[in-house]
Amino acid sequence: MHPARSLGRRFNEPDAPTRSVFQRDRDRIIHSTAFRRLVYKTQVFLNHEGDLFRTRLTHSLEVAQLGRSIARTLGLNEDLVEAIALSHDLGHTPFGHAGQDALNASIRAAQPAKAGSDEDWGFEHNLQSLRVVDELEERYPAFDGLNLTFETREGILKHCSRANAERLMRTDATGVARRFVEGGSPTLEAQLCNLADEIAYNAHDIDDGVRSGLLTLDQMNDVPLFDRYRRQALAAHPALGGRRLLFESIRLMLSDQVYDVIATTRHRVADAGVDSVEAVRAQKAPLVAFSDEMAAQSQQLKRFLFRNLYRHPQVMDTTERAARVVSELFVLYLERPHECPAIGVSSSISAPRAVADYIAGMTDRFAIREHQRLSGYTLFS
Ligand code: MG
Repeated sequence: MHPARSLGRRFNEPDAPTRSVFQRDRDRIIHSTAFRRLVYKTQVFLNHEGDLFRTRLTHSLEVAQLGRSIARTLGLNEDLVEAIALSHDLGHTPFGHAGQDALNASIRAAQPAKAGSDEDWGFEHNLQSLRVVDELEERYPAFDGLNLTFETREGILKHCSRANAERLMRTDATGVARRFVEGGSPTLEAQLCNLADEIAYNAHDIDDGVRSGLLTLDQMNDVPLFDRYRRQALAAHPALGGRRLLFESIRLMLSDQVYDVIATTRHRVADAGVDSVEAVRAQKAPLVAFSDEMAAQSQQLKRFLFRNLYRHPQVMDTTERAARVVSELFVLYLERPHECPAIGVSSSISAPRAVADYIAGMTDRFAIREHQRLSGYTLFS
């Protein structure tokens, strides 16, 4: 994606004298409020459970690192990749997926979907990430949001339900959700960020899982993908054990997955014969991809992490309490609107939507504190 061929910003602005439009997007994201909050938002482990676990911020940096590294080799636009990678999780609620599910259930209960209504779209974190950069950031005199380029916004909207895509088609003139209605693909840079996200969390969740003691290195040997690199590491360094064996196995896995994506993508791009961004967008299936074998093994690893880490009783206990914090906070704010500074700021959004935006923006610890302040009891000590 060449910056000169960008489809542009929602509001016209003169170009910056020294930076491309995608460099400028990346810089705007780094200076945003939502970006700084990522440091105190859960990836899998709550921020206060330990200083060394990934947070949404360090996760996003790892996605950017993997994305840039692959982009440079493939000749993709590194700045666009970085802008998408650093902003892809801006819309996440506190407490990760538990928070999102609770918020979605809360807003849907507060305003049941009316057919054709533009107000009732529940809560999806990808859509919320777009909402953060389009509407919620307040930094510039002339517009709401960060006024990012179409291409960065297209990459941020990684998934979108059909109903929400149709709503966006009515309310957003840029057509950022068109591909979810009419089919098609985003830029190669956006496709790359999707895959870099998966590569990053599979690897760092093994690391955090073992660090936390919820997974053991022995257990990891049941996962063929991991076991292969553990054997490679031991073949090269027979005396290796403990943490260094874990890190070396993950390092080998990361490198091999990166090489796999590069080789597979080169083949796919050549086979598809695409020679422009428009030709990429017209493709039904992504061109940036793992080989079939790597895709299957990555799926296997994902299923392992789901069963053994994300559904670990200790994680589930935290998840359930986190979900209660979010859903109880939602009700508390609606009962006492004067406690929620976001209600009534804009006449164009309903109170439940204002509360959802407000809670979605919270860090884990602020949500816990607010819940304690308004409910009079604590779910986390
Ligand atoms: Mg992510």
